[in-house]
Amino acid sequence: MTTTLLRGGRIIDAAQSIDETGDVLVRDGVIAQISTTAIGEHNCEIIDCQGCIISPGLIDIHVHFREPSTGKHEETTASGIASAVAGGFTTVCTMPNTTPAIDTPEMVQTAIEISQRLNRCNVFPTACATLGRRGETLTPIQAMVSAGAIAITDDGDVVEDDAMMSAVLKECAANNVPFMQHCQDPKTTIGGVMNEGEVQRILGYGPWPRSAEESIIARDIRLNESIGAKWHAQHLSSGGSVDLIRKAKAANQLISGEASPHHLLLTDEACRDLGTMAKMNPPLREQRDIDLIKEGIADGTIEILATDHAPHPMHTKEKTFSEASFGIVGLDCALALYAKALIDDGVLDWPKMLLMMTSNPASLINRPELGVLALGNQADITIIDPNFDWIIDTRTFASTARNCPFDGWKVKGKAIATMYGGNLAYQALGDRQNRCNTT
Ligand SMILES: [Zn+2]
Repeated sequence: MTTTLLRGGRIIDAAQSIDETGDVLVRDGVIAQISTTAIGEHNCEIIDCQGCIISPGLIDIHVHFREPSTGKHEETTASGIASAVAGGFTTVCTMPNTTPAIDTPEMVQTAIEISQRLNRCNVFPTACATLGRRGETLTPIQAMVSAGAIAITDDGDVVEDDAMMSAVLKECAANNVPFMQHCQDPKTTIGGVMNEGEVQRILGYGPWPRSAEESIIARDIRLNESIGAKWHAQHLSSGGSVDLIRKAKAANQLISGEASPHHLLLTDEACRDLGTMAKMNPPLREQRDIDLIKEGIADGTIEILATDHAPHPMHTKEKTFSEASFGIVGLDCALALYAKALIDDGVLDWPKMLLMMTSNPASLINRPELGVLALGNQADITIIDPNFDWIIDTRTFASTARNCPFDGWKVKGKAIATMYGGNLAYQALGDRQNRCNTT
């Protein structure tokens, strides 16, 4: 196996309070040395990291890869992984709303086997809380966790029934596995396709109130009080949700939440300007929601950044707003979009932002070693050029899907190399990559 020297980068590992210029040596697939003085090495690949950040590999706990699947699908695990590594991600958690849904240990095993054959990125499947995500029958959570399910979720649907939700939380707590909730009260979102508000009333589309999200968060906080499972709110859209989570955290609940790029950069005005490309679940809200979510990110209430990467064939977006599919792809461009939303806006600096994309999600999924640069760890490393100016062009995405409202946006910051297990799973290094045969 090759030896690679990452030379002269800004090594950021916020979980270990590391932010210093230095070298990282990767040998036999693991991190062999980290040093603030130059590492002398011969007969190795050298990557000039000057001006770049050397970070633990990025983690996205919320993606949809549409596999395993019985029918034709927009994204495969292979194309999803290509998209992930192009965006700097070395670990992703896939949602179980495939066809059929991942609700048995055998399905979990199949999903793991597909990604292990590809060996280019950690792909950890989540598994359903209820059979077929129908909310009626509890899945064999213990067996699915033993088979490798990293978290439990019915994403795409909420677990609506209180008694069922309590049963799910008890099983998650007993098996030490996080539960990820898609917070959407189905009763208040019948026919809902966009944020309830002025723009919605002008456009005449079905309303989706903030309370649909907040009521589920409040309900789950109440149910989980005596159970104590690790509970996580997916794709937060409403400003009011942030305060619910803040208060539950203050009461020492095991609670976390994630933000997604579109909910930080677009408002419901985009439904008017961009049409179905701005149709999301949950919907894009208003500027005050963005401000409150950013406040929650700044004060540590929201600790995780995810994408909700949701590939859809274009024909499902080329419909009326009410009929079009929900969601967008995000892995290829998430890092730059987060930098735009959070660093350019002064909410976070690079170390704090990377913490939300490495160590924090790693802790949630009980794999803390994936979020740090430690000697002997598998070398999952992302090299980021924070000053790389580029224009998002969906035609160049490694994902097979093109449903993304950020096409044409001018952004800054890009993963120029993604190392998985010591091998370059993606690179756009140009003349930064050299071979050294002498000391
Ligand atoms: Zn969801």
